[in-house]
Amino acid sequence: MTQALECQILVIGGGSTGAGVAWDAALRGFQVILADRGDLATGTTGRFHGLLHSGGRYVVRDPGGARECAQENVILRRVATAAIEDTGGLFVTTPIDDPDYADRFLAACPEAEVAVEEISPGEAVRREPRLNPKIRRAFSVADGSIDSWKLVWSCAQGAEQLGARILPYHPVTALVRDGDRVVGARLHDLRRDQDVEVRAQCVVNAAGAWSGQVAQLAGCEVGVRPGKGVMVAVNHRLAHSVVNRCHLTGDGDIVVPSHSVSVIGTTDTPVEDPDDIEPTREEVAAMMEAADVLLPGFSQSRALRVWSGARPLLPKAAAAGADDRAISRSHTVLRHSERDGVAGFVTIAGGKLTTFRLMAKDTVDAVCGELGVERACTTAETPLPGSADHHYYRLPDHQEEFEHGRADDPIVCECELVSRSELLAAARRHPKATLDDLRRQLRVGMGPCQGGFCAFRTTGILHHEGAYDRAEANAGLRAFVQERWKGQRPVLWGQQLRQARLDEWILQGVLDVEHLPT
Ligand SMILES: Cc1cc2nc3c(=O)[nH]c(=O)nc-3n(C[C@H](O)[C@H](O)[C@H](O)COP(=O)(O)OP(=O)(O)OC[C@H]3O[C@@H](n4cnc5c(N)ncnc54)[C@H](O)[C@@H]3O)c2cc1C
Repeated sequence: MTQALECQILVIGGGSTGAGVAWDAALRGFQVILADRGDLATGTTGRFHGLLHSGGRYVVRDPGGARECAQENVILRRVATAAIEDTGGLFVTTPIDDPDYADRFLAACPEAEVAVEEISPGEAVRREPRLNPKIRRAFSVADGSIDSWKLVWSCAQGAEQLGARILPYHPVTALVRDGDRVVGARLHDLRRDQDVEVRAQCVVNAAGAWSGQVAQLAGCEVGVRPGKGVMVAVNHRLAHSVVNRCHLTGDGDIVVPSHSVSVIGTTDTPVEDPDDIEPTREEVAAMMEAADVLLPGFSQSRALRVWSGARPLLPKAAAAGADDRAISRSHTVLRHSERDGVAGFVTIAGGKLTTFRLMAKDTVDAVCGELGVERACTTAETPLPGSADHHYYRLPDHQEEFEHGRADDPIVCECELVSRSELLAAARRHPKATLDDLRRQLRVGMGPCQGGFCAFRTTGILHHEGAYDRAEANAGLRAFVQERWKGQRPVLWGQQLRQARLDEWILQGVLDVEHLPT
């Protein structure tokens, strides 16, 4: 039987953009439904680099995009504080960088409102002892590290508290048109294996790199060009702050500290299909080598995992075949009523995670236009759930919390310090969550062992406590291990190869995970 739902605004896509739109629209008093084909933030948003841009990376090539980042950086520090680690950032001129670029960079910053301070190379090395000691110039900026999962969940939670419905695992399979108007969509509830028909006054296409595919469901063309980017996480934080090369942006020129790891990235290669973005060994090797110019010895550190994401680039004036890095990182809102004669349908494309709030504001403004109403945006002044006290995330806080008062709470994941009580609380909050969904909530399985020690413990506890029956537990464990393995394959050397062998002995040799009955 088909389930029928109704709302004013249906948002397709639960990445940062869609979640931002849902939060903004709910704050403006609209009835909202948000649907994603998977869990929230499992598209590009959950596969990005982790940088809260200061604007510095675009200041020379794309000053408009840089200004947007700089302005949103200030706003997000106010309203999304809990998702941000205030690491600060450095741009440094390494021995292989054009020394003249530093002058262009410094001159362009004030123009784009990017706060910058030149510091001596000695001061930069004092702040970041692993930095290449041969750097010639250094600039301090307001880069930060941002947790996209926390950001998206807080938007979804905030929207839900205002009455929105959040529907993960609900792919949109068709858009319903009544003449020249989109009036809703057909979804499929993957967990219940049931169709859902949603009637909406306006449908927002926030499907990122997939927005071209979604637009086609309404008979509209959106020329999104997915750009693949590869990132590698290494054990430990090799820098306290974000470290960038001061040059026209290129591959492997930025290291972002994120939780307990450092992430080097990224590449930018046009691809046809945003689901076909498997990283290669060559890309990983190039990333690791490139990082040595910034932080000598980086390539010798223990690589834990590699992943890739697809940028939702929308070339505007960019010539066909132009370098993807030349495409503006700014965003575009398409009102299909004006562009294609299809009313009740709005697409948001392009942009950055750092500018998600502004993207959402512009989108909901366009929706207001479609619906013929005026309602002001308040997301710049309204803290997201969890950010009202304006405390930045700090890595030591979690460790400290763990050391005090958790002595009798067994640890489930040693690498990421996840306790049994935290696991059970998360499972209670998300009763239908898979192990992978819980990984994103708790970071369980994301450390050096990549689930070797914690995956079977987690599964066992959840089965014992009744969250999973036997078949679900076995199938869930196998899927989880498979997913972790995918990200390790291109980095199997040295310590991580030893770890993978040990994991294999535990999971296959002792537990025979591959042949568990399901
Ligand atoms: C390699 C890389 C590194 C990056 N690093 C940074 C960075 O450090 N800082 C920064 O600010 N930005 C960064 N970006 C850009 C940023 O990550 C993206 O712009 C942003 O996350 C896009 O969010 P989104 O919500 O538009 O798209 P997505 O997160 O991809 O969300 C789209 C959603 O639509 C869903 N969807 C697709 N089809 C359907 C359907 N038929 N039905 C229902 N749902 C559907 C998908 O499952 C997905 O969850 C990076 C991008 C890449 C690729």
